[in-house]
Amino acid sequence: MIVDDRMITYIRSLEGPENPVIEKIEQEAIDTHVPIIRKETQSFLKVILMMKQPSRILEIGTAIGFSAILMSEYLPEDGHITTIEKYEKRIPIARENFRRAGKEGQITLMEGDALEVMRTLTGPYDFIFMDAAKGQYIHYLPEALRLLSDGGVMMSDNVLQDGDVIESRFAVERRNRTIHSRMREYLYELKHNAKLQTSILPLGDGVALSVKKSI
Ligand code: SAH
Ligand code: MG
Repeated sequence: MIVDDRMITYIRSLEGPENPVIEKIEQEAIDTHVPIIRKETQSFLKVILMMKQPSRILEIGTAIGFSAILMSEYLPEDGHITTIEKYEKRIPIARENFRRAGKEGQITLMEGDALEVMRTLTGPYDFIFMDAAKGQYIHYLPEALRLLSDGGVMMSDNVLQDGDVIESRFAVERRNRTIHSRMREYLYELKHNAKLQTSILPLGDGVALSVKKSI
């Protein structure tokens, strides 16, 4: 938890319903313990999409397609989302969910390791949603920068890891230490890379919002 629980409950209580298919897929994800974008992060994402109005979106980390379907609701008719997932059990569920939501034509699922798939893409994308393996963001960054258009926006999710990124390395399990130190490296890079303007927000599980400068 990054922010007071009561504050989160209050903010969430203000959210209205999404369309029924989206709500159903969200509930199925929660019931089957699939980690999807949190409610308060969803509404931030929607606002950013309405401001930026991207027509080409790249998502790293599909899971069962929830966030891709949510984003597709804010795309223009001719807009397109490319989303990458490597976990074989989730891929058919995501495909079925795209079909249920009637979004097969607007969303392309690419199967495989995010970094390998990103290397095959040409872009440019005007919005990137970074949401795959948290310890890998730092390795995805050069490809994400190459694929992002000038003025393009990148939103990275789960960057504060429930607050654990700032815990002493002795307080966290060994396997998480590497993830946290790589995440700190990633956030440092987002803040210091000359091509990026970034704001880090303690929203949901931590969000970094970056814009690629046209220099
Ligand atoms: N964006 C989704 C949630 C994604 S969860 C939503 O909010 O609805 C993160 C996903 O990234 C997991 O399904 C995991 O299997 C996938 N992932 C992790 N490492 C990956 C990699 N190296 N390449 C592709 N996908 C990866
Ligand atoms: Mg996430």
